[in-house]
Amino acid sequence: MPRAVVETGQPEQQREAARLAALFSSEILDTASEPSYDALTRLTAEYFQADIALLGFVDETRIWMKSYWGRAVRELPRGNSIFEMVLAQDGPVVIPDISLEHQFKGRATLLRQIGMTFFAGVPVRSASGRILGVLSISCRKPRPGMDADEIGMFESLAGMAASQLELHMLRKSFTTPGAKLGSRNSQVERTPPETGAWPQTRDLRRALDQHEFVLYYQPEVDLFSRKIVGLEALIRWQHPERGLISPLDFIPKAEENGLILPMGDWGLAEACRQIQTWSKEDPRHGSLRVCVNLSARQFSREGLADHVESLLVQWGISSRQLGLEMTESSLITNMDTALEVLSSLRRLGISLSMDDFGTGYSSLSNLHSFPFDVLKVDRSFVGRMTEGEQPLQIVRTIVELARVLGMNVVAEGIETTEQYDLLRRMGCRYGQGYLFAPPLSAEAVTRLLRLPGRILPHPELSEAVA
Ligand code: C2E
Ligand code: MG
Ligand code: MG
Repeated sequence: MPRAVVETGQPEQQREAARLAALFSSEILDTASEPSYDALTRLTAEYFQADIALLGFVDETRIWMKSYWGRAVRELPRGNSIFEMVLAQDGPVVIPDISLEHQFKGRATLLRQIGMTFFAGVPVRSASGRILGVLSISCRKPRPGMDADEIGMFESLAGMAASQLELHMLRKSFTTPGAKLGSRNSQVERTPPETGAWPQTRDLRRALDQHEFVLYYQPEVDLFSRKIVGLEALIRWQHPERGLISPLDFIPKAEENGLILPMGDWGLAEACRQIQTWSKEDPRHGSLRVCVNLSARQFSREGLADHVESLLVQWGISSRQLGLEMTESSLITNMDTALEVLSSLRRLGISLSMDDFGTGYSSLSNLHSFPFDVLKVDRSFVGRMTEGEQPLQIVRTIVELARVLGMNVVAEGIETTEQYDLLRRMGCRYGQGYLFAPPLSAEAVTRLLRLPGRILPHPELSEAVA
């Protein structure tokens, strides 16, 4: 009879990297939950007469529950849950009575909180055998264990989850124009060919592992009072040899290979941590809003609102202190999901900004039907404003449009006092740009926030800020 296994520590880095590569190429995290997964968790629970059945997939930061039966569990953080043991063991784990196994108590907090005693989990594997996730059952009452037949059945059910995944990939390859149908394995573990340009996927993965990403923050200013009302979080890569790298040099690659998901998770958590630090330093900073940029892929993944909500609780911050920015083009790929996700974020009280307005489709109906409350005028328009009546009129129209729609408007990329004056004259309330402050490290921003009333000196005197 398989016994509860003693933990063997984190899987080796290489094995973990291969597992994550297989996970990302399965695209499971990006796709909507399939009804077949729900049928599978129900079947598993019924077969084993379990109180809860969970099907979760494991990336760097979270265990994403793609289906739950008996109890809504949407995600768990990585590192200290009982599911981790299935990964470490690379095989089935059965714990007849959690309460008797002292070494598992910390790992089984969630299950214990909801009154579970028995736990069993088996890996869900890709076609080439890599662990992508875990199928688990839990019961209120302790059980003697599981015999070989039961384990065999449990593994077959997990195999069915893996087949569903493969079917999904096959279906996609038939319906996606231009997609070629390769071998069975190549469908599930197809890794996009690497282009020669730096950085490559392995560079980004290493940077994540080595914690080389940092957030800089650029002040958003009330153009009439010059008070800092918010901060935009902008990611940089602090490369040990190449120095500080712009997001424009690595975000596109991260979007292509899926690493934008863990990178984005890190950015959101880091911004929340920093908000907490600033609020502790001075409770008046509670009125500051820190805005985080989201890419299309982060946004089309299920559970974003749940994840954001859990971060707010974890860091003890209010939803008013967090904003999210996204471009219109990131919404276009899946408008229905976008609307759903945005609406649930708005229900949480998170402010939503449409970034770079004017550069994409700039569809009025999108602006109207999505629950954005802030419109950010792209800096290319602000930059051209002084070139003539027409570019000036464009900015005036955007500001007016925002007013009519009841949205706040932020002008990006203000570099000169001329632009600053013109924007104020047309009633644009908020702005950001090098004229006030470039993106700065958290420490530098902390110093700026100590200015009386958080009010920046007049830009013409801005040397005083430096
Ligand atoms: P964005 O969200 O539109 O950010 C504004 C960009 O304008 C920033 O570039 C900022 O440094 C730059 N900027 C601010 N003021 C001025 C100015 O007065 N003049 C000029 N010329 N530029 C100014 P940055 O930091 O290089 O970021 C570029 C883009 O990368 C961002 O554009 C955003 O789309 C993306 N990005 C940055 N951080 C993240 C992130 O954490 N996640 C995601 N998904 N995307 C990010
Ligand atoms: Mg932005
Ligand atoms: Mg922008």
